[in-house]
Amino acid sequence: MRLLIVGNGGRASALALKLSEDSRITKMYFAPGNATTEKLGENINETDILALRDFAIQHKVDLTIVGPEAPLVEGIVDEFKKVDLKVFGPSKKAASLEGSKSFSKKFMQTYGIKTAKAVIFDSYVEAKEYLQTQEFPLVIKASGLAGGKGVVIAEDLEEAEGTIHDFMIKRIFGDAGIQVVIEEFLQGFEASIIGVSNGEKLFPFVAAKDYKKAGNGDKGPNTGGMGSVAPSPEYTEAHNADFIQNIMNPTVEGLKKEGLSFKGFIFFGLMVTKNGTYLLEYNMRLGDPETQVLLPLLENNLVDVIEDCLHGRELDLKFKNQKAVCLVVCSGGYPKNHETGYEITGVEKVKNSTVLYAGADYRGSRVVSTGGRVLNIVALGDTYDEARKKVYEDAIPVHFDYAFYRDDIAKF
Ligand code: AMP
Repeated sequence: MRLLIVGNGGRASALALKLSEDSRITKMYFAPGNATTEKLGENINETDILALRDFAIQHKVDLTIVGPEAPLVEGIVDEFKKVDLKVFGPSKKAASLEGSKSFSKKFMQTYGIKTAKAVIFDSYVEAKEYLQTQEFPLVIKASGLAGGKGVVIAEDLEEAEGTIHDFMIKRIFGDAGIQVVIEEFLQGFEASIIGVSNGEKLFPFVAAKDYKKAGNGDKGPNTGGMGSVAPSPEYTEAHNADFIQNIMNPTVEGLKKEGLSFKGFIFFGLMVTKNGTYLLEYNMRLGDPETQVLLPLLENNLVDVIEDCLHGRELDLKFKNQKAVCLVVCSGGYPKNHETGYEITGVEKVKNSTVLYAGADYRGSRVVSTGGRVLNIVALGDTYDEARKKVYEDAIPVHFDYAFYRDDIAKF
């Protein structure tokens, strides 16, 4: 079996490692991949979706798995299906549930999915008038993809007006800010639920917790994720029952009614408040760094899970009764300007964890940093503390200039 995995972050490394357990796999291609995937298969430079389609035909790829949102929103799945290539992921239209926050909010409202109250605006003048009638804080979202930066929690009217001006007039995110979603601020804790869809039903994994802020104690700017833990220690059976009844089941119903049913991964970004579990967003793919803690806990063979979904079969997902912790090691300055190109050393001294490279590539025989989030250190334990100790001990010998990480991942 020959696989093509699109992506290059720690998520692609986690996928590669999990898939490599399957002895049926004879070759894995990664587009563009990183230093971990290079050792498990072959990295290729293609990023354009038609070039990837042609590559998959030429190299007789049996199955393609797409990691990041951009190619899904561009329609990679539709292009692959047109030529009968097997691909795991949503159509372009279904990917709009992630690619357009106004589309997904309308979908949630139509199907009674529990979410923050929101109003959608195409007109700057109308949005500005609306803001004057509101209380703060209030959440303002650019509708299109903005690399995770298009959400602002405005503390007062001045900040809110500045934000809609930036999004709609200055167009700091280009066309992504033509429309904005202005919604109620929800207070609580966040949880990530990733699931797989077989085209009929969704099968959720255990909940994960992602650490989004750059600094200890959840201080500082938002990032792509500084660490993760699974299962989420805060998310109870009751929260999950609320999720299934008020979010997951109506989502399945809505997908069917809108003709959006798909076979692929789905991610629910939840806010759990004292009034219950609310949906903040859908991602139509695996999350990063949640994948890095979920896949090591998954007992099922991932190729079987994907094949079962593609054939519309029932799944029986099983998870290890353990805790998983992922620590993200970053380049100094991240998420703002950061330098790259530093050699990474000491990885061979890591004893009790797995190192997954993210923004890191081989330059000859050396591995050097190439991105903001450089590598992930992942460990399992019977307790959060045990897994946490492993990752922090194993972080000590790993070195590159100006590396930093949070000290409080999985500290409960
Ligand atoms: P989104 O891309 O919609 O998930 O938003 C990104 C982040 O903004 C979320 O992970 C939350 O931390 C925050 N956020 C989004 N919507 C809300 C809301 N209605 N209330 C509070 N925080 C929110």
